[in-house]
Amino acid sequence: MVDKAQFLRVQKLIEPNRGKKNGGRNEQGYNVFQGLTFCPYCGGKVYLKPYEAGHRLYCFNKYHDKSCDAPRIPYAICQDAVLDQCERIRPERILPTKDAHTKLCKALRKQVDGTTALLEERKEDAAKANNLALKHEGTKRGDYWDAEAVKFEAEQGELEQELKELVEKLHRAESVQRNFATWQTDIATLKTELHNPVVRRRLNDHLGQFIDRIEVFAKGLPERYDGDDFRDYVEAGLDGKHTRQDEEERLVNWVCAQQRTKAGAFLRVHFKVSDERRQRDLELWDKAMNHYIDVVPKDSLAGHPAINDSLWERFKIQSKKRVRRKNG
Ligand SMILES: [Zn+2]
Repeated sequence: MVDKAQFLRVQKLIEPNRGKKNGGRNEQGYNVFQGLTFCPYCGGKVYLKPYEAGHRLYCFNKYHDKSCDAPRIPYAICQDAVLDQCERIRPERILPTKDAHTKLCKALRKQVDGTTALLEERKEDAAKANNLALKHEGTKRGDYWDAEAVKFEAEQGELEQELKELVEKLHRAESVQRNFATWQTDIATLKTELHNPVVRRRLNDHLGQFIDRIEVFAKGLPERYDGDDFRDYVEAGLDGKHTRQDEEERLVNWVCAQQRTKAGAFLRVHFKVSDERRQRDLELWDKAMNHYIDVVPKDSLAGHPAINDSLWERFKIQSKKRVRRKNG
């Protein structure tokens, strides 16, 4: 369901932007990740390259001077995977946890209330002092209350500034969860209009609001994963299949080896995090936190792939090839 506020917001996102030329007719305009994608192996930028069989993402250094060997990767599956994940991700994976967030807002609200009460007190003090100063004008007593009034007014000014900062902090804290939810809903809506080049460009801007960068692991993990916690998973997945004793171990080894090839491609989406958030994480968790999610495109063997018939089929075919190579 799209409510009216959201409808208007999305209309605003979709309406033509006269300031920008090239309404996304070129290839880079087609790319909703433009400016966001990087190669994790060489640090180069990752671009979209048009191919008749479907657009691909490629590492600039690979095509520029072959200083990188990252393979190209189909654009469409990356787009689907990232948009789908961003839409479904639980905000607390990126934003403060609900508990931490509630605690923070509560503490800030308490500070706001306390400072507001103190400010009212000082205002009254200043008014009283001013009245007394006026009443005893020209006397020693009057001078005393005059000085007191100046003191109270100075404190009042400081408290007003403090309160202003606290209220801003509270609003920021309160709105961050709401903004993220809005951001996700807007992605879902923009996704349905992707045939429109203007929408693609808007989606590109929109993604940049929360996404810092996307690393394209086109040839999988750079280092070998030993498959330890994958083993149990495989065991459960193979339950009921007629497998030979050594097959389970071979399957684990095969998947782990595949994860370091383009069959194990995945994308790492890094979210924007404020310095304030980083500092708070350090205080809360006692360590620096990674604010990214790993997105696994369809059919990739990255992470813990499902032990289904299609994976089993792929494994069998590869095993046969290997046996044939060995014998031939
Ligand atoms: Zn590269």
